[in-house]
Amino acid sequence: FGSFDVNAVRNDFPILAEKVNGKNLVWLDNAATTHKPRQVIERIKYYYEHENSNVHRAAHELAARSTDAYEGAREKAARFLNAPSAKEIVFVRGATEGINLVASSYAKHHLQKDDEILITWLEHHANIVPWQLVCEETGAKLRVVPVDESGQILLDEYVKLLSSRTKFVSLTHVSNALGTVTPVAEMVSLAHRYGAKVLVDGAQAVSHLKVDVQALDADFYVFSGHKVFGPTGIGVLYGKPEALESMRPYQGGGNMIVDVTFEKTIVHPAPARFEAGTGNIADAVGLGAALDYVSSIGLDVINRYEHFLLEYGIESLSRVPGLRLIGTAKEKAGVLSFVLSGYTTEEVGKALSNEGIAVRSGHHCAQPILRRFGLESAVRPSLALYNTCGEIDALVSVLLKLKHS
Ligand code: PMP
Repeated sequence: FGSFDVNAVRNDFPILAEKVNGKNLVWLDNAATTHKPRQVIERIKYYYEHENSNVHRAAHELAARSTDAYEGAREKAARFLNAPSAKEIVFVRGATEGINLVASSYAKHHLQKDDEILITWLEHHANIVPWQLVCEETGAKLRVVPVDESGQILLDEYVKLLSSRTKFVSLTHVSNALGTVTPVAEMVSLAHRYGAKVLVDGAQAVSHLKVDVQALDADFYVFSGHKVFGPTGIGVLYGKPEALESMRPYQGGGNMIVDVTFEKTIVHPAPARFEAGTGNIADAVGLGAALDYVSSIGLDVINRYEHFLLEYGIESLSRVPGLRLIGTAKEKAGVLSFVLSGYTTEEVGKALSNEGIAVRSGHHCAQPILRRFGLESAVRPSLALYNTCGEIDALVSVLLKLKHS
């Protein structure tokens, strides 16, 4: 893996030295949230110790510092996604808020009765429910693109569902339940033939693979800071300028206005138009540090290492009798969902937790895709750049013990 040194990376993450139930913590719940390197923790501390202020550059020295730090983080987010300009980056609370913002400010105003919104079977609830709300309000219809037995999107079916009625397509880049990497660029290009706008939910993608919004050509791209080694409560909505300019404000308040009278208010262009009130300044700055951290290692290097781990994990789990892997698409990132015969997913999760191993067991906020595979729940170990083959061995050894007990 070239210069990649997993032990050096692990040393950047103080929490990985934590003991849980007297055991070394093994964090395999990265799809739920990732841990924070010292560089992020220290950046936030530095902000509060030396820069803390509301952002209004001209008022005084600390305001200038916090504004520079906040806008600097926006520049970093733009570079991270290869967005042409920081003006295309809106800070939001996370992927959920980014999707809801687009659903409210774009879709509710541009869609009408009998228009269609396409999503896929792979979506997280955050990319299902907002569109159901749009449909309720506008009379538009929700259509769902099916997946095959491996959990990959059926492109033929997608093509069949696309029509001149399709006004919006919203799809995940990487499935949080199965890890499937979807053929996003191709799907965006097909949607654009019908003039539909496309949102890509990158919540599970950005920590695993290099994202280039210009290459994807998506109209919107969202992600959450906490899943890419940054803080909670901060995320990014990227939007093409023409898409953002066609949107009404999401919330009204300070910071988003040019001029207010009781008769008429003039609002800023994007991104300020969508950032009413005091934002999560410190955590935006922390997110900037997280994106720097990931970029300094390089997503191509991370991707290669994780791919090796994923293959090792699939291979190792396949040796456990009675274990069924869910989601076997060739294009996969980060996730190894399974069920184990004779045990509920809660029992497996508990047995792992007793040994200090954290995985998610449940429906992963993606009930439709689990039901597609006849399940209400699955066990989901999920990977990040700091995981090791030794940790996967620890996971497998608990499962083997369970089967032999
Ligand atoms: N989309 C996907 C694919 C996700 O995995 C998640 C988080 N599990 C979300 C959206 C929502 O992210 P958040 O809760 O950070 O807003």
